[in-house]
Amino acid sequence: MLVLNERGLYCPRGDFHIDPRGAVEHAVITHAHSDHARRGSKNYYTAASGADLLRARLGRDLPMRAFAYGERFRINGVDVSLHPAGHILGSAQVRVHAGAEVWVASGDYKREPDPTCEPFEVVACDVFVTEATFGTPAFAWSAGADQGRDIFDWWDGNARKGVNSVLFAYSLGKAQRVLGVLAPWAKKPVRCHEAVTAINDCYRAQGVKLAPTRCLSEVGPRERLRGELILVPPSFLQTERAKLAGSSFETAFASGWTARGPRPGARWSRGYDRGFVMSDHADFEALVRTARETGAKRVYVQHRGNGALVRRLNALGIRAYPESALAPQAPGRGSRPPGPGSGPPDPGSGPPGQLALFS
Ligand SMILES: [Zn+2]
Ligand SMILES: [Zn+2]
Repeated sequence: MLVLNERGLYCPRGDFHIDPRGAVEHAVITHAHSDHARRGSKNYYTAASGADLLRARLGRDLPMRAFAYGERFRINGVDVSLHPAGHILGSAQVRVHAGAEVWVASGDYKREPDPTCEPFEVVACDVFVTEATFGTPAFAWSAGADQGRDIFDWWDGNARKGVNSVLFAYSLGKAQRVLGVLAPWAKKPVRCHEAVTAINDCYRAQGVKLAPTRCLSEVGPRERLRGELILVPPSFLQTERAKLAGSSFETAFASGWTARGPRPGARWSRGYDRGFVMSDHADFEALVRTARETGAKRVYVQHRGNGALVRRLNALGIRAYPESALAPQAPGRGSRPPGPGSGPPDPGSGPPGQLALFS
């Protein structure tokens, strides 16, 4: 039902792409991050709660239809519906149904609680196409940590010393999650970069509760910030605006990539004083658990680092393949698809090339 072509994940029966890498006729968009939502397509389909974000990113008059989660719609006769992915506001898994099989493409997702977006929904399917951004067992997020309190304590400690706290986070999604977990703690406004402020508005318009904020553009030329939390995109320190932080500040980064922590005695990666582990992707065990919970008989794994997940799922008796197995190959080339009872393929033996042709 889904294959991989030069534009990405494609449904030949419905002639639509999921998160296409270029301009296409029909583009189903899982969420507004720039590596998933690109300009130039003729028709866009997305989840209603993320529609404002997509317009903010791709333009006010985007040719778009927005759907509630779970609402069925058709593209060229193929049934499609969108389901919460728990990644950022409005993020969606794509359920595709035609003939006897149900396929689900996860898009980016996480299973951890996040006060700023709809929680992930397990969608039963025959075939699951999963992301695997953090697809090795080295990545494991600690459950139950109060990230809002951790960030607030860091801010508060710095403020007592008269030092500003500069927290780097991607302006769409991560920054709002920081503001969401800080909402019960923050006593005064978080100073936000303009790029963050614009996205905050989209979240608040959907009823998401964020900590109070003030835009950095409201800071006067003579005003000196002291003891403030300044929430900015990673590029901030390379800009003139960095002067706003004054001469004394501490830095931190909120990301899943900080999960491994610094080497003993070293600073956090990229020279930050602190790292807050906050991933918007599932960690390895959550990827495994989710694939099992869908009940899928076959799983295709997207992204680099898919080997460990493919191996683990195969060991659990689920037929799993790297995404490249979805790329159609010329007849007569490639290995034969596994027949009934042939068991999981050896992941080291290469993709079962023709499988997609039978899907
Ligand atoms: Zn994303
Ligand atoms: Zn992504």
